[in-house]
Amino acid sequence: MAEHLRHGEEALHRVVASDVLAPVHEHLLGVRAADARHPRLGHHPVGAEERRVIHVDELHRRVGKPAQQRVVLVGVRLRIGADAIQQGSHAGHATTAGRIVPGVQAVQFDLADPQFPASLVDVDEPALPGPDWARVEVLTGGICGSDLHLFSHNTGPSPTLYGNVAFPFLLGHEIAGRVVEAGPDCAVRVGARVAVDPCIPCRARGIDPPCANCARGWTSSCLNLDSRVVSPGRSLGFTQGLGGGWAEQVAAHVSMLHPLPDGVPDRAASLHEPVSIAAHGLLRAPPAEGDPVLVVGAGIIGLATLGALRGLFPSHEVTVLARHEHQATAARACGADHVVRPAPDNAHFAELAELSGSRVVGRRGELMLMPGFPYVVEAVGAPQSVTESLRAVAHHGTVLLLGAAGISEVDLTPVWYKEAALVGSIDHTVDAGSAPGLAGGPSRHSVDRALDVLAAGFLPDEVVVTHEFPLDAYRDAVATAIDRGGANAIKVVFRPCG
Ligand SMILES: [Zn+2]
Ligand SMILES: [Zn+2]
Repeated sequence: MAEHLRHGEEALHRVVASDVLAPVHEHLLGVRAADARHPRLGHHPVGAEERRVIHVDELHRRVGKPAQQRVVLVGVRLRIGADAIQQGSHAGHATTAGRIVPGVQAVQFDLADPQFPASLVDVDEPALPGPDWARVEVLTGGICGSDLHLFSHNTGPSPTLYGNVAFPFLLGHEIAGRVVEAGPDCAVRVGARVAVDPCIPCRARGIDPPCANCARGWTSSCLNLDSRVVSPGRSLGFTQGLGGGWAEQVAAHVSMLHPLPDGVPDRAASLHEPVSIAAHGLLRAPPAEGDPVLVVGAGIIGLATLGALRGLFPSHEVTVLARHEHQATAARACGADHVVRPAPDNAHFAELAELSGSRVVGRRGELMLMPGFPYVVEAVGAPQSVTESLRAVAHHGTVLLLGAAGISEVDLTPVWYKEAALVGSIDHTVDAGSAPGLAGGPSRHSVDRALDVLAAGFLPDEVVVTHEFPLDAYRDAVATAIDRGGANAIKVVFRPCG
């Protein structure tokens, strides 16, 4: 079940019951028997079923969680004739036919080991899907909070990411490395150090004309992320056959490559991804001149937002709400003007009120600021932090959602009561707008802005890259990232070839 898929084959898996991971499978991985009727695959009979019971005891023991949870996975494997899959220069492994392909190591989310949902596997070195692609050896691959959702809790049955993931898939979308092979039409040459934008929108998939959103320049909202052209995965980190950030190598289209400045050392290089998330979000709805900003959360997204604010909007006073002591220390080291620690019964709202010239209304811990901060960045994604952000925003203010909030119960009354705007953002793209800071020029890609922020030292790697692991220590690496409070972890990275 975990083997490398070949051209002309497709594996389908269906989850029937689970305490922990089924919603991830069904709705994030999008693997259901119904996929056998995917138009590109035609109608094919379903083969023999394979049943497995998968315990995630070891993982939960490592992070001190209850051990009884289990997953039941029913895998349905289906062989399909090569003619049933769309042919063309982008078709799977066609380009590897007839030559011996060296293997590389990669961490694969495959549920193959009853002890842990991912495995270290040998896969073919990624083949270039087209002449304008490059093969990159990975120097740094970050572990993202969104990766940890796959290991520690489910994201709920939201349809947003349905069907956007290959299964099994190679992990890691925070990627920096060095080009080791460049196709004839790839302008970035062998030897170049690069940040890799993990998104695979129309242009990278060779889809021409592009979708309506890409045509508008909204490549982070590409309508073809689930097209299954080049890969069934929406982005690197969720694909098979293209390598990944938790792998020795990865393949990327030339449009996904951004030259790394000399001022960004290898161990800091994968930080471009969270900083780019913040930069794109801030330019989706920039704070008005002089507005103080509250950042709720001081994990890597909160700290990356702080760094991006200093690079894009340097004159804005920034208050950071930090849950853990080591996060508070890091926020101060990254230049926060004020750091507030959450207190029982939301007693810290008094401090937030003072910093924003507001008063506190409410009782028994259910508190709100009047008016509040004109600009709030939610950088956690938990229901409490979304509610806290909404209750802290001022009238006619903006709450930017950068944490990957899921299905949850939140207090939405401040949105209408304060006529506030709730703004969403995902991934990376060219933002047409500009900002006053050094990374703020008009019509720049968010990854390039992020690299400027990093090169200027606004997110020092000695502060935020707290742990480095080789690939074969992937279980310890994931456990460390999950246990961030106990391990004092902020950003945990792999150094596959570093
Ligand atoms: Zn990420
Ligand atoms: Zn598109």
